[in-house]
Amino acid sequence: MSGIRLKVRIYGDPCLREKTRPVDKITPALRLMLKTMVNTMYEEDGVGLAASQVGINESFFVADMGDGPGVYINPQIYKQSGEETMEEGCLSLPGLTIKVARPKNIQVSYRDVNFENITRDLEGLHARIFLHESDHLIGRLLLDYVDEKDRPALEKKIQPNPSG
Ligand SMILES: [Zn+2]
Repeated sequence: MSGIRLKVRIYGDPCLREKTRPVDKITPALRLMLKTMVNTMYEEDGVGLAASQVGINESFFVADMGDGPGVYINPQIYKQSGEETMEEGCLSLPGLTIKVARPKNIQVSYRDVNFENITRDLEGLHARIFLHESDHLIGRLLLDYVDEKDRPALEKKIQPNPSG
């Protein structure tokens, strides 16, 4: 039996372009939303899902960085070094993968599900997931990393929302 799944917003939906506001406390409603987002992320075969992708204008995302589901509230990036280019996909851009150059190592902070402040060093794929999801929270999408002249052809490849 699968749990409640949220509708993931697809490119063109204005909520994907909004800058989110910080969370000031954990509420029961937020805990439930985080749980539902984790469920949605797994059901959609994603490794991360940001609040703006489900129409919520607040600064948090869920992700699985290989150690099970994690909750990242008010994420911040402090230091960055190195660079690596990899193909990325996005649940809000179904059908597309785009090569994106990102820092290889980052130092981040965020609040966890208990609103405890966490500082961590992330590298490689984990850094990439954190950066990708943090981009969503300021309204930035993968297509913004592509030359403007190349965007229309890519936009045509985006498939309609498979989950309706
Ligand atoms: Zn994404």
